[in-house]
Amino acid sequence: MSQIVAPDRRRKLDDTQWLEAMGLDPFWIASAPNATSNNAQTTPLLAQPAAVEGGAPETRSWAALETAIRDCRACALCEGRRQAVPGSGDQQATWLIVGEAPGAEEDQRGQPFVGNAGQLLDAMLAALGLNRQNGVYITNAVKCRPPENRSPDAGELAACEAFLQEQIRVIQPAVILALGKSAAQALLGQEASKQAAIQRLRGVQHTYTRDSLAIPVVVTYHPAYLLRKPEEKGKAWADLLLAASLIPAV
Ligand code: URA
Repeated sequence: MSQIVAPDRRRKLDDTQWLEAMGLDPFWIASAPNATSNNAQTTPLLAQPAAVEGGAPETRSWAALETAIRDCRACALCEGRRQAVPGSGDQQATWLIVGEAPGAEEDQRGQPFVGNAGQLLDAMLAALGLNRQNGVYITNAVKCRPPENRSPDAGELAACEAFLQEQIRVIQPAVILALGKSAAQALLGQEASKQAAIQRLRGVQHTYTRDSLAIPVVVTYHPAYLLRKPEEKGKAWADLLLAASLIPAV
C-alpha cells in the first residue's frame, strides 16, 4: 500500500527573511561594525584547534557520557530537576553553542533551548545558514535546571564543568559561542570573572585552552537577554560574524 506523504507547507526563508526573523533590519546589518576590528584581539587568530602543552585525559563513549550526565548527583540541582539536559546536535559539530542552564521547558522536554530564547537562537543560526541538525551542537554550562530559573552559582558551575570539558574533547569544534556570563565563566574561568561584564567580553576572540586544545571562543549576549533588549541584536549579529570568520576554510 502506498503511503500518502503530506506536503511540507513550511515556508523557506531567504537570508533577508532570516535576518528579519532575528529582528534585524538587513540594510542596517550591511553597515554593522566590522566584526573583527571593533576591539583589540585578546589572542592571535588560530587557523584550527591546536595542540598545547600537556596531554588530554581519557574520554569515554558519547553514550556513557550522556548517561553520566543524566545520573549525576554532584550538586543540589539534581534534587529539583525533572531530568538533566546533556545537549543536542551534531557530535562532530563545527560550532559548539554553550548556554547557561536548562529552563522549565528544557527540564520538561530534555532538550536545550526549546523555549522562546531557543526560537531566537534558531533564527540567529539560520541567519548564518546553520541549523541544529547540521554542524552545530548546543549544550549548557550547567546541565540541570536551577530553581526559579536563576543563574547557576559558582559551586554549580564547578560541579558541572568536567562534563562540558569532556563534550569539548569529543566534539573538538572549530569555534565555541558562549551565550551569556555563565557560559563565558565556564569556558574562560578567571578571564571572565564575576566582575567582567559581557560588554567587555564580547566582540573579541578568546581561546579555550585545556586538554591539549586551543579553540577560539566568542562571547555574546544570551538570547533571553536579547528578547528583553532587542536593540542589542546588532551587536550579537556582529559577534556571530566574528565567530564565523574564525572557522578555517576547508
Ligand atoms: N537558556 C539557556 O541558557 N539554556 C537553555 O537550554 C534554555 C534557556
